[in-house]
Amino acid sequence: MIIKNGKLVLENAIIENGTILIKDNKIVDITNSRIDVIDEEIIDAEGNWVLPGFIDCHVHGGYGVDFETGNEHRFETFAQSVAQEGITKYIQASVTNSLEDNLKYYAEFGKFMKNGNHVGAKCLGAHMEGPFISPERKGAHDAKFLMLPNIELTKKWNDLCGGNIKIVTYAADLQNGDYTTYLVKNNILPSVGHTDLIAAEFEKDRLLGAKHVTHLFNGMSGVDQHRPGLATATLINDDVIAEVISDGIHLKPEILKLIYKVKTADGICIITDSMNAKGLKDGEYKIGNLDVIKKGIEVRLISNGSLAGAGATYDHNVRTFKEIANIPMTELIKMTSINIAKQLNIFAETGSLAKNKLADIVILDKDLKVKRTIVEGCTVFKS
Ligand SMILES: [Zn+2]
Repeated sequence: MIIKNGKLVLENAIIENGTILIKDNKIVDITNSRIDVIDEEIIDAEGNWVLPGFIDCHVHGGYGVDFETGNEHRFETFAQSVAQEGITKYIQASVTNSLEDNLKYYAEFGKFMKNGNHVGAKCLGAHMEGPFISPERKGAHDAKFLMLPNIELTKKWNDLCGGNIKIVTYAADLQNGDYTTYLVKNNILPSVGHTDLIAAEFEKDRLLGAKHVTHLFNGMSGVDQHRPGLATATLINDDVIAEVISDGIHLKPEILKLIYKVKTADGICIITDSMNAKGLKDGEYKIGNLDVIKKGIEVRLISNGSLAGAGATYDHNVRTFKEIANIPMTELIKMTSINIAKQLNIFAETGSLAKNKLADIVILDKDLKVKRTIVEGCTVFKS
C-alpha cells in the first residue's frame, strides 16, 4: 500500500506532499518524493492530513456496546465501529460492578482478547475504573460496590482476562503505596482518579511510579488555594500525564486552555470516556446498573443530573481541543497518540508515523473529519 499526496504529520515535522510506503502491516518508507514501486493499492490523500492513528486509553463503549454488555461478538462490533473516529488502538474501560459481575465480565473480555479482535481498531486491554475509588468522588459509579484497593482481587480479574488489564484507576489515598507498587511491578499503568486526596497524599505514589491521572478535573477537587488536591498536583508535576475529556462539556473552554498552557502538549492525552450510547439516538440508557439519559453528546445520571460518561467521539474531542486552544498539528499528535503510546510502552511499535512502526494511520480532511482509518496496514474505515 502507498499513501501519496498527504500532509504527513511526523514527530516534530510536517512533510507537505509526502508519501508513505507500507508493506504488510508496517511503514517501510516515508519521503517527500515519489516512490516508484508497483503496488496493488495506491491511496491518494489529496492533500489531506495524514496522522498517526488515535489511541483512546479510556473508552467504556459506544454503538450499543460497553465492557459490561460485551461478549466476543459484541466487542468485535465495537472495535469495528470505533474506527470511524480515527481510533486505531484503544483500551476498553469498565465501571464499578459487583464481585460476581466482574468475574463474568473479565472472563468474557478475556475470550475476546484471545480469540477475537480481528476487525476494526485493535483493543490493547482493559482499563479498570473502579471499584477501588473514593465514595466522595464516585461520579457515575455505584456506591454500594466501592471498596479499598485490593491486590488479590486485581490479580484474580487480571488472570481471568488473560493478563489484559493495562490501566487501573484508583484512589491513591485509600492505600499506603503497596497497591501502587503492585501495579508498577506488574506492568499495569497506575492512574490516580475518583479521589478527594490532597496533593501531598499523591506525592508518595508519584514517587513510586504513579504518573497518570484519570480525566483531570473530573472526579477530583478543583484548584483550591487552601486545599490543593489531585488537579493541582497534576498541573505542577511535568512527569504526570493527564487524561483530558475535551468534548467541551466535561471541561469548559477556559479550563481546556488552562490545562494546555500549564501541562503543554507533552503532558496530555485526549480521551473520550464515552459510554455505550455514543453513536446511538438520544434517549435513556444504562451505565453499569445506573440509569442515564443521553441528549446529543451529553450523558447524565437520571437520579441527580450529574455527568455520567460521555457521548462524544474521539475526533470531535480532537477538533474541539485544537480549536479552543489553537494547537499546532505536531503538538496535537502528542496528545492523541505519542504520549499514551509512551505511557503504555508501545511507542517502539506504534504512536507515530515512522519507519518500521505499525501502519496505524488516520487521514483527516481540512476540517479534521475522518476520511480513512488504517489499522496495521489495512483500511478499516473509509468515509
Ligand atoms: Zn471512565
